[in-house]
Amino acid sequence: MIDIENLTFQYEDAVEPALRNVSLHIKKGEFLAVVGHNGSGKSTLARHLNALLLPTKGTVRVEGMNTKDEENTLPIRQKVGIVFQNPDNQIVTTVVEEDVAFGPENIGVPPEEIRKRVDNALLAVGMEEFAARAPHMLSGGQKQRIAIAGMIAMEPEVLVLDEATAMLDPKGRRDILSVVGKLHKEKGITVVMITQYMEEATAADRVAVMSGGELILCGTPEEVFRETELLRQHRLDVPAMTELKERLNAAGAELPDTILTVEDMADAICRSLLKN
Ligand code: ADP
Ligand code: MG
Repeated sequence: MIDIENLTFQYEDAVEPALRNVSLHIKKGEFLAVVGHNGSGKSTLARHLNALLLPTKGTVRVEGMNTKDEENTLPIRQKVGIVFQNPDNQIVTTVVEEDVAFGPENIGVPPEEIRKRVDNALLAVGMEEFAARAPHMLSGGQKQRIAIAGMIAMEPEVLVLDEATAMLDPKGRRDILSVVGKLHKEKGITVVMITQYMEEATAADRVAVMSGGELILCGTPEEVFRETELLRQHRLDVPAMTELKERLNAAGAELPDTILTVEDMADAICRSLLKN
């Protein structure tokens, strides 16, 4: 779906590149999580996925379309939608359904088709009852769901969430995650989820780890979170259950490396208790 080859990018006024030689192939229908500490280049990478930024060196291709060719900009932006961290900057009108309709209107979708898309998008994020409400009266999580609905209404093939849950409370984060998980499963949308929360990354098909503008590790959650040493060297957390597993194993338990979630841990402990 998206091919990133030797991508290097330097902001005009910067002394160092924000991305160095990043190569990554994002498959159609995959759920990719991108993790890394502040300033590691995650947002810069995200902005390359829909031609908001163009490589200084290297190439980014969306279904074969080079982001550097101007004629590709519009089709690429229709294929790849980005939801950013702060929903307040993404809400542009005073009525929820008008906000969701804003994107499709701008690309000339016919009115009756817009109606359908808006209803479906609000349904997909569980906000159908809020269609006539004022966005500024909603909670952060609800606003973020409206921002996602606005993206869904554009019918993108790839949904990029750039720390879209960072400003939400745990319940708000879970709601967004479940909405995105559903879109991925039911509509086959390719998801690129940038997150600070390692627990969120455990739900992905693959995890890409950024540090200092470089992609230092990429693989399944099991493969990536097994590299606890390397992650710690780069001042990154591991999921809480991975850490608990390490501590228990250091104390003599024999829990498998594949433990990432509370469910995995509960299963492993039950099995080991039953064995003894
Ligand atoms: P992350 O999203 O992982 O926090 P960013 O992609 O925002 O990282 O930033 C990567 C690097 O690029 C950082 O060193 C940051 O200071 C720098 N940077 C980000 N945006 C700009 C900009 N508009 N101009 C100059 N430097 C920037
Ligand atoms: Mg960022």
